[in-house]
Amino acid sequence: MGSVSQIIARAGEDVQYYYPNKMGRIVLIAMEEIMGPHGVNAILNLAHLHHLVGNYPPNNLKREFTFFELSAIQKALDEMYGVRGGRGLALRAGRETWKYALKEFMPVLGISDLASRRLPLAMKLKVGLDVFAQTFNKFSDQKVRLGEDEDGYLWIIERCPMCWQRTSPTPCCHLAVGLLEQALDWVSKGRRFRVKESACIAKGNETCTIVISKKPVI
Ligand SMILES: [Zn+2]
Repeated sequence: MGSVSQIIARAGEDVQYYYPNKMGRIVLIAMEEIMGPHGVNAILNLAHLHHLVGNYPPNNLKREFTFFELSAIQKALDEMYGVRGGRGLALRAGRETWKYALKEFMPVLGISDLASRRLPLAMKLKVGLDVFAQTFNKFSDQKVRLGEDEDGYLWIIERCPMCWQRTSPTPCCHLAVGLLEQALDWVSKGRRFRVKESACIAKGNETCTIVISKKPVI
């Protein structure tokens, strides 16, 4: 037994947040499609995540894939390919991740048919974003809430694994941007929306905020 302050200090140090294994696994599989298994291994080694090389998390919902691991992978992409190159790869990985997310999570949430429902586009977007946010809130320790302002719909990540314990002069949660782009593409049957991270915890902001244009660009 320690003093109350010691216990609080310890809790602060030890606090660890997780994605379910399934989410970690599909991010790595999506990355593999883009950079090949050797490319992913190189990133994992650079990130000092040797335990994941050739040993992806199992396909279950146990919360064992740490925010630290996801963030270290994002950081390694920037280190290996430069900020621009890393951003491009993370965006593509995010887009690729969607197809697995759709298969693995959407049936559970009961919106597999959302894209073909006869609803106005704005309504579909709102329903879609709400369910996507719930998916993270329910299955992982990532906290997402939705907002709206004159610029668009806001995807506000209050606890973010992409930039967990990182510092960056520019927003760096590109994986989330790519995933949202592809999710919106699906909901709207191929329309394109402007999706941009306007604030990032790694940059010193309170939240990682992604702004989605209300009207499609195409
Ligand atoms: Zn972030």
